[in-house]
Amino acid sequence: MKTVNHWIDGKSVEGTSGDYGPVTDPATGVVTTRVAFASVEEVDAAVAAAKAAWATWGVSSLATRTGVLFRYRALLDAHRDELARLITAEHGKVHSDALGEVARGLEIVELACGITTQLKGELSTQVASRVDVASIRQPLGVVAGITPFNFPAMVPMWMFPLAVACGNTFVLKPSEKDPSAAIRLAELAAEAGLPDGVLNVVNGDRVAVDRLLEHPDVAAVSFVGSTPIARHIHTTASAHGKRVQALGGAKNHMLVLPDADLDAAADAAVSAAYGSAGERCMAISAVVAVGETGDELVARIRERAEKIKIGPGDDPASEMGPLITKAHRDKVASYVHGAAAQGAQVVLDGTGFTVEGYEDGHWIGLSLLDRVPVDADAYRDEIFGPVLCVLRAETYEEGVALINASPWGNGTAIFTRDGGAARRFQLEVEAGMVGVNVPIPVPVGYHSFGGWKHSLFGDHHIYGTDGVRFYTRGKVVTTRWPDPEDGGVDLGFPSHR
Ligand code: NAD
Repeated sequence: MKTVNHWIDGKSVEGTSGDYGPVTDPATGVVTTRVAFASVEEVDAAVAAAKAAWATWGVSSLATRTGVLFRYRALLDAHRDELARLITAEHGKVHSDALGEVARGLEIVELACGITTQLKGELSTQVASRVDVASIRQPLGVVAGITPFNFPAMVPMWMFPLAVACGNTFVLKPSEKDPSAAIRLAELAAEAGLPDGVLNVVNGDRVAVDRLLEHPDVAAVSFVGSTPIARHIHTTASAHGKRVQALGGAKNHMLVLPDADLDAAADAAVSAAYGSAGERCMAISAVVAVGETGDELVARIRERAEKIKIGPGDDPASEMGPLITKAHRDKVASYVHGAAAQGAQVVLDGTGFTVEGYEDGHWIGLSLLDRVPVDADAYRDEIFGPVLCVLRAETYEEGVALINASPWGNGTAIFTRDGGAARRFQLEVEAGMVGVNVPIPVPVGYHSFGGWKHSLFGDHHIYGTDGVRFYTRGKVVTTRWPDPEDGGVDLGFPSHR
């Protein structure tokens, strides 16, 4: 069986805690790998390596940092396919989707390659006689990143490329369910010339996470995962004086107005609800059909959903793969089983689905629930599987009120041909990312990604301009080069003359 170790100070380090977790191929249900779970001492070793590396990396030139990042970008580009295969083997998503994940992660590396312009700072000359003021941004020190299973390469790349470009060093704790991609990302960074200790990876569970949250030498924590854990991370790390951004779960709504192109809306709903088996934080999990559109929209969604080919992620014919674990599969199925009793109409029930020859895989088919009451569990909870809820609203206002009553506010979308309604929606809806006829509005790398309400704890969105601000702290330098006639004691508060 393959073993995934830690990556500390530029080399692979075997776990010493004796504690390992299983990594399963979701398509076969077979445990293929064991992953080392870090002890407090191992986390401390990673933080110590990062702290030591910061002494030189934190003051390295921008040219040195971008030189490494450009080489890293080229290496990642050359290893797209290998990374995608690692993702599929442990996560289960289809190869094309895994390639898409790598591409979206690469966007942030490209952003980091251009860090020079983002760190230029501001200068005001002659704010008073012979006085200049400069605002600069400096790195924080050691930053920790804790990431979820559903994007094992992309979400780490949302964090560490920008963090190290800004001059920080990094300790990553990837998901224990699919850790191999993160280790490969660290190996390639070393190959690109990133000095030892600048990027470290510790594998493990809560023990490793909680040590990072409390460690006095960790300055900031970036987290992406479920809402309850995001809240824990934000509370605990803040209590330990750290800067924190903690992105949580979601229930993303798509509002379909009566004037929408219904075929385009149905295509979008199916792609966004069932892509990656619904295991995306930006998946559409609730469609709100306004007015008379509901029945026709549900019929068109159903027609498309029934044609989706489910199978192993490494089969090019598969459009959707299995779920991450057997336990998660069973939990997702339980929402479909309970839906009718809670008042929903079960249009498609995918819970009995399996794949011939892969009977032990974590399979589930596509489920579609119509007229779901707002108090049904399938609507209230983040299911994180291929289950799409449809709700009905009489008017635009009722639809927006329904969306705004949700505790989450990650992404949302409106489908309409009415520019005025779309504009109103952008301003009125309570969510961090809005799509207009775009179902999964994940911002490009140079805009920031983040939700509202229970989808993000902390003040900064991730990557883009917010990412640079999160990974740096401001300093303002006021300079005077006095002339001979200046001088004399003045106890007054300095005025700008
Ligand atoms: P998770 O919250 O279970 O785990 C995320 C990370 O936290 C993992 O590294 C895990 O080891 C660690 N962790 C788990 N339990 C912990 C505990 N009790 N104490 C400390 N650390 C703990 O999330 P997941 O199941 O891996 O990922 C799916 C979730 O992530 C979904 O809710 C999804 O919406 C969310 N997500 C959000 C975004 C976003 O950008 N908002 C992006 C991707 C995923």
